[in-house]
Amino acid sequence: MAYAPSTETPSAIPQLAEVDTLTIHAIVNDEIDQISPSPHPAVRHPQSFMGAPLKPLPPGEQRGGAALQMRMDSLCCGAHGLSLLITVTKDGKSHSLLFDAGPEEAVWERNVTRLGLDPSGIERIVLSHWHRDHSGGILSAVRMIEAAKKDLSGVEREKVVVDLYPDRPDYRGVMVQQPISLEADPSFAEIEDAGATVFKSGDVHTALDDTFLISGAIPRRTTYEGGIRGGIRFTPEGNWEKDELIMDERLVMCNLKGRGLVVFTGCSHAGVVNVARHAIELGCGVPFYTLVGGYHLADGAPEKLEKSLEDLRALKPHVLMPGHCTGWRFKVAIEKEMPGCMAPIFGGTKYELI
Ligand SMILES: [Zn+2]
Ligand SMILES: [Zn+2]
Repeated sequence: MAYAPSTETPSAIPQLAEVDTLTIHAIVNDEIDQISPSPHPAVRHPQSFMGAPLKPLPPGEQRGGAALQMRMDSLCCGAHGLSLLITVTKDGKSHSLLFDAGPEEAVWERNVTRLGLDPSGIERIVLSHWHRDHSGGILSAVRMIEAAKKDLSGVEREKVVVDLYPDRPDYRGVMVQQPISLEADPSFAEIEDAGATVFKSGDVHTALDDTFLISGAIPRRTTYEGGIRGGIRFTPEGNWEKDELIMDERLVMCNLKGRGLVVFTGCSHAGVVNVARHAIELGCGVPFYTLVGGYHLADGAPEKLEKSLEDLRALKPHVLMPGHCTGWRFKVAIEKEMPGCMAPIFGGTKYELI
């Protein structure tokens, strides 16, 4: 049956402002690739190591006129998780939002330092969902953002806002014969102590002059996208209970002028098709342009991959930008069934949507 977007309460959906430009700097992603060219004309990024930061030679050293060197310790490291720095401009004013912070404080700090990024302009951090591979770097991100702002003498800036779903499990895990626990996500108090303002919301809202929309819970409508098999959460009563749907997961999106909806998904536990369809509903008629982030099909059954691709293709994205937990099999399937449509994301690379 053909999919028809829901028409429910469109008046309750906050309106996204159009942005003039949009860039995505992948600070953390599972894979890196410093060499490949962009496979899609709508996505521009450096290739052949040209995006790697260059450092001066040690003082006094002569190497036949070379003043700069590219050091291997300037390259970003891959890690299981996601952290995307999204920067938009509208009428000459820019806004930066950090979507997730990767799995570890040291990874976020190391990659931002290696890339030579200035985090002082990051105004908001949105956590896609309570899972450590997305939340683990939040505290170092907050500390580095606030420290970088202190270095800007004479400029008074508000604390970075960390936008979180209110229902935080004490622990999440997976049941494999016995419960396997993940580390705890940073707590609300720890995030505040690190120097941020915590903003809790389970409802759809906009941020940064309406240039970003953050969804509420993503409706689960497909029959074949069932969340994480074996997913569990630790209850305040001291038990593990089934929690496969990860209902706290939210998407973030922008409306890029002349292009359409640029949708960011952390891990797509809601199902990549449910995420894309919900974004289209929230977009109130703006065309679906791209889906960036983790599609979580790395461990999916072949039939699930097939159905997901079929339904995703029916939504007519202009470009697909999978990363993190998508898995190589689904990327191969996209390239085969939708040739020329994919521009996968890699850690350390800055993407400009043109
Ligand atoms: Zn997750
Ligand atoms: Zn993930």
